[in-house]
Amino acid sequence: MNKFAFVDCTTVDQALAELKDGAVIKAGGIDLLDLMKDGIVTPPKLVNIRNVSSLRGITASKDGLHLGPLATLSELAAHPEIQRDYSALADAAGHAATPQIRNMATLGGNLTQRPRCWYFRSSDFDCKKKGAGSDECHAHEGENQYHAVMNNSTCAMVHPSSTAVPLLAMNAQVEITSKRGKRSVPISEFYVPPEKSLINETVLQTGEIITGIFVPAPESGTRSAYQKYGEKESFDWPLADAGIVLVMEGERCRKAAVVMGVAAPTPIRSQAAEAVLTGATINEATARAAAKAAMQGATPLSQNGFKVQLFQTAIYRTILLAAGQMQRDPSAIG
Ligand SMILES: Cc1cc2nc3c(=O)[nH]c(=O)nc-3n(C[C@H](O)[C@H](O)[C@H](O)COP(=O)(O)OP(=O)(O)OC[C@H]3O[C@@H](n4cnc5c(N)ncnc54)[C@H](O)[C@@H]3O)c2cc1C
Repeated sequence: MNKFAFVDCTTVDQALAELKDGAVIKAGGIDLLDLMKDGIVTPPKLVNIRNVSSLRGITASKDGLHLGPLATLSELAAHPEIQRDYSALADAAGHAATPQIRNMATLGGNLTQRPRCWYFRSSDFDCKKKGAGSDECHAHEGENQYHAVMNNSTCAMVHPSSTAVPLLAMNAQVEITSKRGKRSVPISEFYVPPEKSLINETVLQTGEIITGIFVPAPESGTRSAYQKYGEKESFDWPLADAGIVLVMEGERCRKAAVVMGVAAPTPIRSQAAEAVLTGATINEATARAAAKAAMQGATPLSQNGFKVQLFQTAIYRTILLAAGQMQRDPSAIG
């Protein structure tokens, strides 16, 4: 691990003043420290924002949910109003990683953690994403069983954040602050696909901090759920996941959002699946049809075709869970 300076901040202004000359923000530190220990990033200075009290807190009000970026995954999962009105977010936060990690991991850090790809995360490999002169994506020809099954032609990394999935389905906004002021970015525009940049995974620029996440209040009749599937019961990222938001009028679905996280380099909505559900009665047949539609554009690699089936299972069962027609699937993980 490289030598680095460590600065403890108690205000956003102090943190902004320290964010220069390659310094990076440290929140819970889980992903950042992993990357430093593996030699993938070597920042000269960590700006610790964990003691900035104005970045904490969860407020559910009439207009929606105001989340501080330092809210931990445990806090999100245990919050009664999030469990009741934004269930998919409570599901995603409460089934990520492990209980110990959820106590440390912050929402801002969870949304901004780096992607999963064992070539990217190993210092033994250069690849085009690392920008060190290599023009290869090793996953294309190499070991790719955990890699992306959609939008994977430039880089086959997978998006890692479970909470981004329901937040995209719920049309959340990310508040970003810099010395120049504040801007608000819809989460649908927050993530940058590798075709636009292989270096930046989000629109965050040097000197910017996420200072809030806002989720608009759900329309009446809204129900939502998130589930993830994978190899291990706990202590692991998913191989397939689904975040579903349904606006119901009786048995009929008036509006739907179907989002997948680990299918592609960025979290993606499936308009094809949403079109199947919109106006339909939700039952096993429509849920399965939507799941099939979601995976129609899949481009699996040599070893990850199984994920296409796993995603269909994740999507149809999570649609039924959101609609209240199925209990949480015992074979879902986390
Ligand atoms: C075994 C294991 C299993 C896991 N499983 C899952 C899983 O299933 N689902 C899942 O979602 N995650 C999973 N994780 C990842 C874990 O949840 C993340 O590492 C954690 O959420 C990161 O949060 P943090 O606060 O520790 O971020 P940090 O490590 O402190 O920061 C991560 C990145 O975010 C940036 N950052 C942090 N806060 C801000 C801010 N306010 N503004 C701007 N930038 C910021 C940092 O500069 C850094 O680049 C798993 C981790 C492990 C070790």
